[in-house]
Amino acid sequence: MIELGDAIALVERTAAPLPPRRVRLLDACGRRLAAAVVADCDSPPWDRAMMDGFAVHGADYPAGASVAELDVAVDLAAGDVTTIGIGAGVCARIMTGAPIPPGADSVVPVEAAVDGTGRAHAGGRVRLEDRRFRIGQHVARQGAAFRRGQEVLAAGMRLGAAEIGLAAEAGATHVVAEPRVRVAILSTGSELVPPTAVPAFGQTRNSNGPMLAAAVPLLDAEPVTLGIAADRPEAIRAAVAQGLAADVLVLSGGVSAGDLDLVPAIFARCGVQQVFHKVRLKPGKPVWFGVLRRDAAPPTLVFGLPGNPASSLVCFELFVRPAIAILAGRPRDAWHLPRCRARLVGPAKAAADRPVYLPCRLRDAAGGREAEPLPWTGSSDLLGLAGAGGLIALPAGGRTHEAGEEVEVVLRDVRVGSV
Ligand code: AMP
Ligand code: MG
Repeated sequence: MIELGDAIALVERTAAPLPPRRVRLLDACGRRLAAAVVADCDSPPWDRAMMDGFAVHGADYPAGASVAELDVAVDLAAGDVTTIGIGAGVCARIMTGAPIPPGADSVVPVEAAVDGTGRAHAGGRVRLEDRRFRIGQHVARQGAAFRRGQEVLAAGMRLGAAEIGLAAEAGATHVVAEPRVRVAILSTGSELVPPTAVPAFGQTRNSNGPMLAAAVPLLDAEPVTLGIAADRPEAIRAAVAQGLAADVLVLSGGVSAGDLDLVPAIFARCGVQQVFHKVRLKPGKPVWFGVLRRDAAPPTLVFGLPGNPASSLVCFELFVRPAIAILAGRPRDAWHLPRCRARLVGPAKAAADRPVYLPCRLRDAAGGREAEPLPWTGSSDLLGLAGAGGLIALPAGGRTHEAGEEVEVVLRDVRVGSV
């Protein structure tokens, strides 16, 4: 058994930032680019019609008030191409998005057609009157937005919808981005059934699975849910082997001292080196932490959390949270939940031998924050944790901290609704 502060320090020392990853473009949304995106084409890729109308050779188009009467040589919808040249006396009927045909350089909008000739197609004639005609009008020139070989997105930029669209246009099917930490979640226990089941006598719904799968994306990491493994060595071993492909494996159950607490031995057989097992902490004493090192890839950090749901969550917040933050490359001040001082509004009892975490409601009051301990029966009680704004952290010593005393409170994630 080790001290809580030492255990947290060991997690911090074992975790290291992951290198950037080449990922599919959409998987990089919301992330920072680690390498610039360079265009593989011009944009537009060719001179493009920006209006529905008629593509003309501008030098032959009569300026001023005069009406041009032109033969329509070809019809060009978006996606159509032609080799027919456009010279004097000739035009192409063209739709927005089509390439300007050879010889043409300007588009006269269909609204400029007079005498009902606006519907003229290939083989017909159109009469066009465009008093404000300028050469090059309504044409987006090849490369006007960007050129092939140009850096269109710089390293360090965070990708949102516009940036993803631009990268797609520039031909980037994959990008090199800061990594999203992959966290495998495995619940162990032969008594566990999925939350969709009505538990039979002796069965327990798997609440840790959904709880941890919810906690991971709140840290901007990606959960990989592995479901439930029964307390049989082969079942747990197969699931652990799968989980070791992730950056972090968070397993719950089977790490304490019962007959079927098989997990530490299975971790050892899978090559996971133990860093610590059992921490002076309440709830959460049985927690296990280790690391699987490999030559070719970054290590996988492995957490065995206690099966009791409240213990599991407290251990997740104290140990797994900083590990994910460090792997993601976040600054030190973003590793842990923030803490504050608050005045107790009711008594809170410390444990004799280890630091204790107790759910509380927090409110702002004259002279600072107040923490109201919530009714809570301990490590299996999620009802007492749900809606709690924070956890009162009391040092070991066993004494009752009375109303009015100032204590330390770990604040829950600010995005989580509390009452
Ligand atoms: P263990 O750590 O495996 O000894 O489990 C301790 C307690 O937590 C037992 O009552 C288990 O039934 C319960 N438990 C273990 N895993 C889960 C889970 N995923 N969801 C809900 N309860 C669990
Ligand atoms: Mg168990």
